[in-house]
Amino acid sequence: MRKFISVSLLSLVLVSCSGEQMQNSNSMEKIANQSVKSAKQVQLAPEIELIQNTALAGTHGYDIIESVTTEIGQRLAGSPEEAKARDWAVKKFKDIGLSNVRIEPFTVPGWIRGEEHAEIIAPFPQKLEITALGGSAATPDSGIEAPIAYFPTYEDLENAPDGGLEGKIVFISGHMEKAHDGAGYGPANKKRQLGATEASKRGALAVVIRSVGTDSHRFPHTGQMRYRDNVKPIPIGALSAPDADQLERILGRGETVTLKLTLTPKSVGDLPSGNVVGDLIGTEKPDEIILIGGHLDSWDLGTGAVDDGAGVGITAGAIKVLVDSGLKPKRTIRLVAFGAEEIGLLGAFAYAEKHSDNLNNHVLASESDFGAERVYAVRTTVQGAARDKIMEIQKSIEHLGIAMEDGDTSGGPDIIPLRAKGVPAIRLQQDGTDYFDLHHTHDDTFDKIDQDAVAQNVAAWATMIWMASEADVDFRQEPEIIGE
Ligand SMILES: [Zn+2]
Repeated sequence: MRKFISVSLLSLVLVSCSGEQMQNSNSMEKIANQSVKSAKQVQLAPEIELIQNTALAGTHGYDIIESVTTEIGQRLAGSPEEAKARDWAVKKFKDIGLSNVRIEPFTVPGWIRGEEHAEIIAPFPQKLEITALGGSAATPDSGIEAPIAYFPTYEDLENAPDGGLEGKIVFISGHMEKAHDGAGYGPANKKRQLGATEASKRGALAVVIRSVGTDSHRFPHTGQMRYRDNVKPIPIGALSAPDADQLERILGRGETVTLKLTLTPKSVGDLPSGNVVGDLIGTEKPDEIILIGGHLDSWDLGTGAVDDGAGVGITAGAIKVLVDSGLKPKRTIRLVAFGAEEIGLLGAFAYAEKHSDNLNNHVLASESDFGAERVYAVRTTVQGAARDKIMEIQKSIEHLGIAMEDGDTSGGPDIIPLRAKGVPAIRLQQDGTDYFDLHHTHDDTFDKIDQDAVAQNVAAWATMIWMASEADVDFRQEPEIIGE
């Protein structure tokens, strides 16, 4: 027997699309309107209604996020805390009812944060808030003192002539735009990834950047950086946004600005990391794997609540909803808590390498790694007739405020290596409007997690993995050739 979905789900849609987010985004307004219409029309199969009611009434994901952030805290890749988090995940996966729970180990290049201070010496002496970027080289323990060379944007540095920055500390500013899909991150992130290389090529001593973030708090944002081959590694740190503003005002007075910078991180050689893997074995097609997960490591400043305790909690919570609902999927649902994502997707590459012989058995893959706000759209790489099944899944979660969105998807950062080897990907796109206020800062903590938003995520994920496990199509089929 089929029933109409309840009015409480409709009100959840209205709540989810209220306020500032809608003013920020026409596309989200359109989604909200579509959702209200469909909420009056949609009928759900009984097991899907059971899944969604269980998820929306429960705290399956929320409790897991609370557990990892409270009992472990910061989980830097390669650290003893990341190792504790693996043990935590093994126990949690077993408690949920997963089989074959194991750690798949690998090693990572270790990097440990040291002292970090920045101070304007002249013309207006004062302290600034700074943090070293992951992988940064160090200054001497006593710091360096040098005049600032100011570049309003990364492109200004990239277009600067060779040489000319000898004896200087480069400051790269440049604002990041807020967007619900995080579109501002890629452009803003260039200075984090390449700023040290470009400054070093021109002879600079060190670099400070305006944090890659969208907040106006005094929390600097860390994140991984790389040196290109054949450049001298120079130290690089990120100033908080208000401190970058302050430095720009002082530079605007037109005098030479002298900065004292002390960053003493260390590279410490190979350290242990690992992925935690567990399966809810399929009843009819156990060899066909639907892989979901999040990443277990975090940066070492906050407790990794939105990045990515949320992703681990949401995906583990979704499987727990199926188990608690007494549903047994036909295909195997595999949960992976990836290690060492933050320092270059190292767990993702290790997984793809270790499972290279049976990646063809991976019929669909997806990661939750964009915070803890509501899902607003489905994207997929699945083509042809199998795409109709994905659209059926979307129709079953449309009343939760979730539309179908065209366009490509990676499936999530840790899915990139799998996708590159042909594994089909799906992504439940989350509202990331405020994600980069917290991302990679001291302020990424559990109090930022909204219980109702996590429950909406878990309801959507549980519906997706259930319907994908039951689907009578092969998501791996090649796209249909149009024409000829
Ligand atoms: Zn992440």
